[in-house]
Amino acid sequence: MPAAPLFVPNHPLLKHHLAALRDKGTPPPLFRALVCHLSQLLFYEAARDLRLTPVTVETPMAACPAETVADCVGLVPVLRAGLGMADAMLEMLPEASVWHLGLYRDHATLKPVTYYNKLPANHGLDVGFVLDPMLATGGSANEAIRILKAAGVPRIKFVGLIAAPEGVAAVQAAHPDVPLYLAAVDDRLNDIGYIVPGLGDAGDRQFGTTC
Ligand code: URA
Repeated sequence: MPAAPLFVPNHPLLKHHLAALRDKGTPPPLFRALVCHLSQLLFYEAARDLRLTPVTVETPMAACPAETVADCVGLVPVLRAGLGMADAMLEMLPEASVWHLGLYRDHATLKPVTYYNKLPANHGLDVGFVLDPMLATGGSANEAIRILKAAGVPRIKFVGLIAAPEGVAAVQAAHPDVPLYLAAVDDRLNDIGYIVPGLGDAGDRQFGTTC
């Protein structure tokens, strides 16, 4: 199966906010605002094929044919760095459900382990958006996507801010049906699994836990 598309929108606003996000001098409050702007710009693209249903609304002037989102949407932030992305998207689509997913990498096996999973059994979702700002090795993304598939989510998309080529390749190999939406694909991973040039630790920078 050929890999689903990798979308890296070539947009001046995306590049502008990404420059500030990467800057090591950007403090957490601004960092969180930038995560919000970037996530909303990417969600605008990633939500492009959501299904619509026709409705009629009464304007102050007349009845008006309109459309609303018909798909049942799930936002699945990978804890903890994906939280800011979920908040940003929830502002744009408050009807979406949020499924928190906590994953860590076991030091011995190097495999992702789930420590928190709020995926309901009878979810009724049409589409799930896996949210993780940093697509590094692809281990967490692949595990999150596997969990959503096992839960029967019919359409799955991954939205991140910065990826390493290794992470993109890993997700495309394991889940060729899942499109990826990113603000940038960087040069490489370093030997401790950080993206270079990247932005450092996305969780620490959002939540002010950098030493
Ligand atoms: N997670 C991060 O927060 N940053 C990276 O560069 C890689 C993984």
